[in-house]
Amino acid sequence: MTKILYSDDLTACFSAWRKEGTKVLGPVQQAKTSGFGEVQDAKELDLDLVLTDRTLKELFFPRTEPMLSYSIGKQQIDTSEFLPSEHPCIIFGARPCDAAGMAIDDELFNWDYRDEYWFRRRDRSVIMTIACKESDDFCMCTSLGLAPDSAKGSDILLRPLTSGKGWQVEELTPKGSKALLPIASLLKEGTEEAAPTAEVPVLFDLEACTTWLANPENFESHFWKEISERCIGCGTCTYLCPTCHCFDIQDEGDTYEGIRRKNWDSCSFQLFTMHTSGHNPRNTQSARWRQRIMHKFNYFSDKFSVHSCTGCGRCTRECPVDMGVRETLQAISTLPK
Ligand code: SF4
Ligand code: SF4
Repeated sequence: MTKILYSDDLTACFSAWRKEGTKVLGPVQQAKTSGFGEVQDAKELDLDLVLTDRTLKELFFPRTEPMLSYSIGKQQIDTSEFLPSEHPCIIFGARPCDAAGMAIDDELFNWDYRDEYWFRRRDRSVIMTIACKESDDFCMCTSLGLAPDSAKGSDILLRPLTSGKGWQVEELTPKGSKALLPIASLLKEGTEEAAPTAEVPVLFDLEACTTWLANPENFESHFWKEISERCIGCGTCTYLCPTCHCFDIQDEGDTYEGIRRKNWDSCSFQLFTMHTSGHNPRNTQSARWRQRIMHKFNYFSDKFSVHSCTGCGRCTRECPVDMGVRETLQAISTLPK
């Protein structure tokens, strides 16, 4: 027997969690994009989306956030630190590629320094992922060794029922099991079958790509210019990527008082590596695109033994000039080593 959560009981689940003081978030339409927002009722969810436009990462790593305020007087300097609240939260209806991305980001944010801004939010959040029944032409999780029902990064995995009336429930972590306690009476024992997962074709030979990238002779290859000539450096691919994590810290204010903020940044931007002298070591868009690919599939993998990509496809899906990681890796996998 398997635990089943029926869609008709979802709003009651949300109420039960809220009664415990837990916020519930899920995929919703927001203005002209989709992302994760707080919900009260299951009707607010958009569970038909293959993938939200924006990723889970902004729930743990906001586009901008204050870190501290400062004021400098004649006799003293006062600072006051801002830390995220530890309000518990359930994220309902994530996709496996996004959840996996959070597990990859955990490595980075706990490397030489534990980033409290990330982990305070991560530690109090439970990710309930729904396995994908459908994919689109941009999905490539299987090319990255994941799958439409990967459990990586999730606390609970939900498998849609063939009937379309709910989900099989798989508890994956102690945090996930604890989150199910307030809704225990709403979970039914059942034998209903799960629907088949989406068929996502493998689009490139990842090993061939990483071998090519690891060869120092290819660093200056004319390939980089050819593949990225049309990139306009807008940064969309980095901002929408679940695993891109670059940020900058800036003081807003003046010499006497202000706020220190942490803001998203992007290796696609010209200013990202600009020195005060005016020299820019990555002075072309192709050098910046090469950095993005090398970082994800060479440097990050060397350091953390995992690629910084889950194959969500957003970089290609949303790029205004139809570029993306998919096209680059497909091209690399056909190049002579
Ligand atoms: S690859 Fe596309 S989305 Fe990324 S910076 Fe270039 S133009 Fe923008
Ligand atoms: S690099 Fe592209 S496909 Fe990979 S995780 Fe980021 S947005 Fe998704």
